[in-house]
Amino acid sequence: MELKQEKIDALRKLIATPGRRIAVVSHVNPDGDAIGSGLAWNGLLNKLGHQSRFFVPNAPPQFLETTDRNNEIRSFKNRGAEYAEFIADCDVIFCLDFNNTSRIEELGEAVRENMMATRVLIDHHCEPQPEYDLMFSYPESSSTAFLVYKIIESLGMTDLIDETMATQIYTGIMTDTGNFSYGNLTPDLFCSVAKLMEKGINIPVINSSVFNNHSEKRMRLLGYMLNQKMVTIDRHNAAYLTLNKEEMTEYEFQPGDSEGFVNYPLSIKHIRMSAFFMQTLSCIKVSLRSQGDIDVNKFARQYFNGGGHKNAAGGKSFYSMEKTVEHFLAALDEFFGSQNQ
Ligand code: 5GP
Ligand code: MN
Repeated sequence: MELKQEKIDALRKLIATPGRRIAVVSHVNPDGDAIGSGLAWNGLLNKLGHQSRFFVPNAPPQFLETTDRNNEIRSFKNRGAEYAEFIADCDVIFCLDFNNTSRIEELGEAVRENMMATRVLIDHHCEPQPEYDLMFSYPESSSTAFLVYKIIESLGMTDLIDETMATQIYTGIMTDTGNFSYGNLTPDLFCSVAKLMEKGINIPVINSSVFNNHSEKRMRLLGYMLNQKMVTIDRHNAAYLTLNKEEMTEYEFQPGDSEGFVNYPLSIKHIRMSAFFMQTLSCIKVSLRSQGDIDVNKFARQYFNGGGHKNAAGGKSFYSMEKTVEHFLAALDEFFGSQNQ
């Protein structure tokens, strides 16, 4: 992944003079990559002497809290008015790990209202909205955190990466690559991870704090979902899971508890596409995963008003759970064609 020199030069110029007011913004229901890339980039900007703040629409799940060692995450949900004031007055706004302002919910309004700030995108999703002054859009990057590392490297500032920032970048890379198991793995990625190790990061500890940090109830919910709720559609090599409010109450559901559920059906030999539907207050949240050439980004855009990556995407449904599943099944028939029926 080669970053364009003129973009790096423009970025260098933008952050050259200390003391700028900067907002770093990432997406709703922030995942490891949103949190890891946002915290590391915010950390770098503050080290350069800027007044930088990191905002997300709502708080990350508890298992990511250890990544926020210096309490830098500002969740818009609780203190929106105060934060909107800061954002309205910013010189620069960095948008990390999303391609569409609908992904930052109410934060989007604050970002749009500031007409004076320079807007910079740092992201790895397909087809970003073209509304930025400077765009680092690299869908071939396995994570935004890796992109952040490559940008810092291209700026010649890796000396500023301390163990905390390195841990944050590693967390983003590790979570968005499925612990180095999805596509877009490159020698350059592993060389960068080696450089992060030289900063003193503890990979087993990071791994455990993210993957082995669940409640017993969450584990039992997973067991219930796989045993009772998984439905396979063999003619399309697909499977889906549904989770409704009553079940969430029964298993004392905490935000983040369903992280990773959508991946499990893919471990069945013939299953190549998996969907997870979860009831929320406003809609049914849709998560999609696939293997190989099946393009769930396209599927999410076409049928669920969403998007993402080729093998990991998401969207929303405003139907009931029952109708959402019906819509999904009809969509599968249309998407894969009648030859599979
Ligand atoms: P997840 O299933 O983990 O929530 O999301 C997987 C991927 O799909 C992420 O890369 C995320 O950016 C994208 N994604 C999830 N939900 C939405 C959505 O509602 N709209 C769009 N455009 N992308 C989404
Ligand atoms: Mn990401």
